[in-house]
Amino acid sequence: MKRFVSFLTFLLLFLITHAQTEFPTPLQITDNLYEVGLDGCNTAFLVTDSGVVVVDAGISPIDGWNLKAAIESVTDKPVRYVISTHHHFDHVGGLQVFTPDARLIAPSGWYNNVTGSGAVIANGFVAEMQNGLDQYSVKNAPIIDHFLENKQFAEADSVQAIINFYNNYIDSLKIIRNMPPDIIFNKKHNLVFGGEEIRLIYPGPAHTGSDCIVYFVNQKTVHVGDLYFEKSFPYLDGPSGASIHNWIKVLKKLSSDRKNKHFICGHGHISSTTDFLIMRQLLIDMKAEVKVAKEKGLSVEETIEAVKMEKYSDYPSRDLLEKNIRWLYETMK
Ligand SMILES: [Zn+2]
Repeated sequence: MKRFVSFLTFLLLFLITHAQTEFPTPLQITDNLYEVGLDGCNTAFLVTDSGVVVVDAGISPIDGWNLKAAIESVTDKPVRYVISTHHHFDHVGGLQVFTPDARLIAPSGWYNNVTGSGAVIANGFVAEMQNGLDQYSVKNAPIIDHFLENKQFAEADSVQAIINFYNNYIDSLKIIRNMPPDIIFNKKHNLVFGGEEIRLIYPGPAHTGSDCIVYFVNQKTVHVGDLYFEKSFPYLDGPSGASIHNWIKVLKKLSSDRKNKHFICGHGHISSTTDFLIMRQLLIDMKAEVKVAKEKGLSVEETIEAVKMEKYSDYPSRDLLEKNIRWLYETMK
């Protein structure tokens, strides 16, 4: 938990320095499909004649409200379906903004995960956010005083606005509810709606034990959730049922996709089939380095020390690498 919390500290600093106080502009991918990058994750929405289909909704209800405002800047059609790619807190916290009217679709196992490890992580996240914001407020109090003494009211307001925004953000995290999906599927689900076909595939355990790939068939666009991490160490969520072996296979399959043109991922830019191969190689390298260390008889701590992953020395989130090594070591036969 402690190591994951240090990742949250990193995320908090990122959030404070990239404070999103207004709703983001939707990025148009095709005629009627958009990506919206929130604080928590990259979401997508498809506008059809019968209503809107949303994929993921960010960390908190504030993210959800921002996403709703972004959708309303494009269409006045109501959101009818919201699809969750997986249970992680940075993808599900805004879902409740849509669920009074929209039907929630998620893969089998999602709800158990969201109310289990997902909930624990979300609670830890609130405490860590509060702690980080307290430190930020203390550090910035003399800066605000300095601005006020010099009658730089706009500058003082802009620092105070960030503090106020994150106070509201934390309040909104505290009201997150976990809702069971209206539609649960095992291997696949075909949603035919508003003249569009949306194919949902459970690819087997990979990033978590309940991931879902969303194919917008008519739009030739795929939302891969967190099955792809752009130039950073991925997170293998072992407790929820992740599998590095199958994740490697899934990325191979995604890399050979010639039908689709656009690939939206949970974090990072629009990706390509070549990107999937690069990340696949990272997983292969990570698995191989842990295997070599374990076969030499190294302990788990020695393995963490020995696995360098030098090809990826500029990748952030090395605390996630350590977490992954530990889990791989303990589960490797
Ligand atoms: Zn995730």
